[in-house]
Amino acid sequence: MKNIVLYGAPGAGKGTQASLLAEKYHLVHLSTGDMLRQEVAAGTSLGQRVKDIMERGDLVGDEIVLSLIDKALTANISGEPLDEWDEERRQRAIEAGEQIPERRIPSIIFDGFPRTVQQAQMLEFVFSHRNMRLDRVISIDVSREELIRRIHERAAISNRADDNEETIRHRLEEYEEKTRPVLDYYKVSGLLVSIDGGGEISETNTRLCQLMDYILRDE
Ligand code: AMP
Repeated sequence: MKNIVLYGAPGAGKGTQASLLAEKYHLVHLSTGDMLRQEVAAGTSLGQRVKDIMERGDLVGDEIVLSLIDKALTANISGEPLDEWDEERRQRAIEAGEQIPERRIPSIIFDGFPRTVQQAQMLEFVFSHRNMRLDRVISIDVSREELIRRIHERAAISNRADDNEETIRHRLEEYEEKTRPVLDYYKVSGLLVSIDGGGEISETNTRLCQLMDYILRDE
């Protein structure tokens, strides 16, 4: 079981590459952007709260994002003691000779999360409660000119409400101000690996797969 964060600026190709990796390596793909868009599309109260924020290109509050991550982890992990009470119950069950459900902890690839240093710290906290840990943070590096070119290209074909000129500029500002510090955070912790993502999707994918083969080699 390995947990990976795929890091990159808007337009770096996180979503595309995370989907390809999830399929190839049977990872659970957790995209906070997708989760939030689903909430908006379903018209939930959370969706109504974040709709305007997303349309402006602002970041959604850390607590909201964390609650979605927490829910997704719970949905994807079964048989794992989720807190001390569960661990106690497991112990009692073991002593009573009861059947313990087999642990099923998948490998996870995070896409678009964490986007602030606080989210990175909260992820550590949430993981430690589940006896999990983050194994690697892979940064897909793309030059600013190429990012802008790609987002405009995507804007022409996508129906995402946040793919317009003004919002794109603002999303990149949010990235520089709030998300870039996450890189330094992971650099210090020694988890960060960077790859060049400036080429074609297939070229970046080849680089990522070489890295994933290496990361997953001792599973
Ligand atoms: P994405 O699909 O990852 O580009 O995210 C689209 C939008 O969803 C972002 O511009 C934010 O408004 C919001 N969002 C997605 N992930 C996060 C996150 N981890 N923290 C805060 N806001 C997020």
